[in-house]
Amino acid sequence: MSCDFLSLANTGVQKLHPYQAGKPSDELERELGISNIVKLASNENPLGLAQSVKDALQNELTGLTRYPDANGYYLKKALADKYAVDIEQVTLGNGSNDLLELIARAFVAREHEVIFAQHAFVVYPLVTQAIGAIAVAVPAKDYGHDLDAMAAAITDKTKLIFIANPNNPTGTFLEQDALTSFLKKVPSNVLVVLDEAYFEYAEPARRGDAIAWITEFPNLIVSRTFSKAYGLAGLRVGYSISHPDIADILNRVRQPFNCNALALKAAETVLNDEEYLQRSVTLNNQGMEDLSAFFTDNDLDFIASMGNFITVNVGKSGDEVFHALLQQGVIVRPITGYGLPNHLRVSIGTHRENQRFKEALSHVLNLES
Ligand SMILES: *Cc1c(COP(=O)(O)O)cnc(C)c1O
Repeated sequence: MSCDFLSLANTGVQKLHPYQAGKPSDELERELGISNIVKLASNENPLGLAQSVKDALQNELTGLTRYPDANGYYLKKALADKYAVDIEQVTLGNGSNDLLELIARAFVAREHEVIFAQHAFVVYPLVTQAIGAIAVAVPAKDYGHDLDAMAAAITDKTKLIFIANPNNPTGTFLEQDALTSFLKKVPSNVLVVLDEAYFEYAEPARRGDAIAWITEFPNLIVSRTFSKAYGLAGLRVGYSISHPDIADILNRVRQPFNCNALALKAAETVLNDEEYLQRSVTLNNQGMEDLSAFFTDNDLDFIASMGNFITVNVGKSGDEVFHALLQQGVIVRPITGYGLPNHLRVSIGTHRENQRFKEALSHVLNLES
């Protein structure tokens, strides 16, 4: 007789549910036997891989019999130069997701509380629960972070606060003043992770420079990723900038080769590809305008977004509309699990993909235009 393995797992792990990823296109293709599928479900870059990265990776292939540089020197150096920080402040991750988990594992124990906002990125409760620590989800304000309420939720047990800016899945954005006033209220022994996965998409005039705040707030950790605007989601590479002592601690818990050789090379290359980044942002801005106008014309409420996705209230079960859209070959993201059962999150695609989405939604919801 086999043993009850679930009862062997750590208490926090027993109650975990696996992360629900966006549905892969080839899975839908297999299920429905249709092709020409449009996936707008995982906030991926619709431009495709940068040509500069394709070229660089060709030259990298013969080196793959070797382990990667465990310190990721060249990528760290490129990041340190770009953001005018010391190389000791940079920590690399297997996606920024890796960093969120490393930070929690390195600093949070079962008796600690971790604060995040309702409707914030699901990885925050996941990593908290995996440790068996206490999750404190603070009710949202206008779908975004209520920073006053989050500051008020800090107790002696609070160890870590996660803030996503722009937030996923709502796209809401916190202005610089709001963030710095919040940081002033946080005790210096409570870590604040500012997750800026969508930083490059946010309006340059409004997004500010959180990395520069680390001098005044050494308990601030800024995390960013190459998965979104830089178009490397499949390679898994992200980074954090922090006080060097925090980076040192993260380096003790990370796996020695958490960033693979292709990811390191690709990230270093695309970081210097200003043209690709600019094209990504421009395409995103156009698509955002296009979809916003479409929702407005059709009286569908949407949440103003600073990311590469837009979250819309479809006026009925998002899960049902999601399934109906699948039949049309369009994959979006239902967000019932985020406490938003009538909303769908739609990643901004190419002009053609956005067009396909609009047609499919019009069909499913019987819209006029
Ligand atoms: C996409 C995303 C990430 C990071 O993803 P990685 O691919 O692991 O770098 C982190 N935070 C938020 C809020 C995201 O939406």
